[in-house]
Amino acid sequence: MNPSHSYDTPLHVLNQVFGYKTFRGDQEQIIHQVLSGGHAFVLMPTGGGKSLCYQIPALLFDGITVVISPLISLMQDQVATLQELGVAATYVASNLTYEQLRQTFTNILHNQIKLLYITPERLNSRICMDFLYQTKISLFAIDEAHCVSHWGHDFRPEYQQLSTLVNNFPHIPRLALTATADNYTQTDIEHYLGLKQARFFHASFLRENISYFVVEKNNAKKQLLDFVKQYKNQSGIVYCSSRIRVDMINQFLNEHGIDSRAYHAGLDASMRLTNHNYFLQSNNSVMVATVAFGLGIDKPDVRYVYHFDMPRSIDHFYQESGRAGRDGMEAVSVVNFGFKEILGIGQMIIESDNDELKKRYELAKLKKIIQYCGATQCRRVALLQLLGEQSYVCGKCDNCINSPKLYDATTDVQKILSTIYRVGQKFSASHITDILRAKLSVNVQIWEHHRLPTFGLCSELSEKELRRIIRQIYCRGIIDIDYTNSSLKLNDKSLPILRGLEDIHLVKHTVNGRSSCGSRNGNSRTVWLRTEIEERLYRDILSWRHNKAIMHKVSHHAILSERTIYELVVKKPHNGELLSDIYGIGNTKLGKFGNELIEIIQQHSHSHEVRNESANELLML
Ligand code: ADP
Ligand code: ZN
Repeated sequence: MNPSHSYDTPLHVLNQVFGYKTFRGDQEQIIHQVLSGGHAFVLMPTGGGKSLCYQIPALLFDGITVVISPLISLMQDQVATLQELGVAATYVASNLTYEQLRQTFTNILHNQIKLLYITPERLNSRICMDFLYQTKISLFAIDEAHCVSHWGHDFRPEYQQLSTLVNNFPHIPRLALTATADNYTQTDIEHYLGLKQARFFHASFLRENISYFVVEKNNAKKQLLDFVKQYKNQSGIVYCSSRIRVDMINQFLNEHGIDSRAYHAGLDASMRLTNHNYFLQSNNSVMVATVAFGLGIDKPDVRYVYHFDMPRSIDHFYQESGRAGRDGMEAVSVVNFGFKEILGIGQMIIESDNDELKKRYELAKLKKIIQYCGATQCRRVALLQLLGEQSYVCGKCDNCINSPKLYDATTDVQKILSTIYRVGQKFSASHITDILRAKLSVNVQIWEHHRLPTFGLCSELSEKELRRIIRQIYCRGIIDIDYTNSSLKLNDKSLPILRGLEDIHLVKHTVNGRSSCGSRNGNSRTVWLRTEIEERLYRDILSWRHNKAIMHKVSHHAILSERTIYELVVKKPHNGELLSDIYGIGNTKLGKFGNELIEIIQQHSHSHEVRNESANELLML
């Protein structure tokens, strides 16, 4: 590590240290904003490249850059990755002994550190604050800034105390970064972190490399197993709604020969850590988890995120699905969508201890994820619209691959709406279904609903078909559900249809039949089809990386990222100059690993194999 190494420009650092050629999106402007002493608020999706926005200034500033980050595991991983790049980074968290803390402070005072990662708890402590007063600080970067807001799902009270930075260090630039922040959360971030005058950078939420799929729940375990088998050489996360379900699914996958681990708050800390580390190190295992497996995941090569249960809100979904494909290579998001779950989540929100405002807020977010699941247009367009952005069709989601066939469902929907109205908007979907299908259930008889004029009006439809229509009109916002008792309600959108003023078209064959995700023909786009020679080279580089990771005590991707390996295998650089052109190979890696990599590549280079595919075909540049 050479902290005194001086670089001229941000681009110089990007090329020489990180081995990347050009900035992405607003990175360069953000870097200039903080370098010129201004505050900035950055809203950028996961994988967008937020870290470089403070890591590059850190190497250009005289003083140190303090990065506030919520989790120790996250910090450790980032620090290790930076150290592999030759950057003088360190961290301070509660797991350090007093002696280690003292040593870290000494290193900082001797100008041996450029980047200090610290948890908010530690930063707010007296000892750290006193120390920071004596230090030349050039920038405060507040990562995962949405933790400041109780509207968000990762609220941390300690984050709110960061407002002391505003008073104690008023002239030091503050850079807040997050991947999720709706208007409420943004206001909180600006308020607590004193960013009202900051320059706001709002990157698009578009994640081009993610293909989105929604499958209707239908033998959910088998659907999951088929999917996981399709991606058996890749890493993925399966999200479940409860600890019990995590354990059940993990066991189920294990029994079917899948290398999976569990993660939830009910496991003891050491087990969680072991499973987390195992997943980080592995190239092809599955993590079955509750949302407790969240903030700390910085694994770039997660190829899919499968929601076995429905996410609680559009924000949860965006955040969780965004953990796929951080390395920019193709990845898949799947939601296994069941109507019953909606009722469960809705009930949970209603029965929570939150105040009415927060409940309404959460119900609105739930409604959005339901709209996403029920969308008949391109999923990407639907998702971005729900997040307040316009986009273009992706051509690779379930709805793009297999356009849903719509039919005029106005008459059926009118019958349903009329029945809901006639029973006083007090009954559930199953009761409405019974009436329309002339089923003399106990409840129908008790309430004498067999006397209604709509009784038996949909006898030709199966229970499943009728339920599907009800689900679709709910997803489209044409009816509401009272979650306290699951009763169906009419709303503003119901009336024009009921009165015959508007037609409605619904999906005839739903996503039900589409069990394969991520492909047109069963071959996953995320599976990189290697030739025989490439396969051998790939295996050799993987095992070399594995040994190096063990030797350096870091994660695999801190040695080489998936994308770097991809370029190495496809481009086969056989000298230093060509190698330095490879994605992610900066000066330090070239010096440290260059000869060994060239040697491995040369062993395979006697063959003059020509690939037809372009090297970038599977990559998102
Ligand atoms: P975020 O924190 O926004 O989720 P990261 O900072 O972890 O994203 O960046 C995601 C990946 O993209 C990392 O592997 C990072 O090194 C890489 N990356 C970031 N900026 C660039 C760039 N300009 N060119 C190439 N790769 C980049
Ligand atoms: Zn699409």
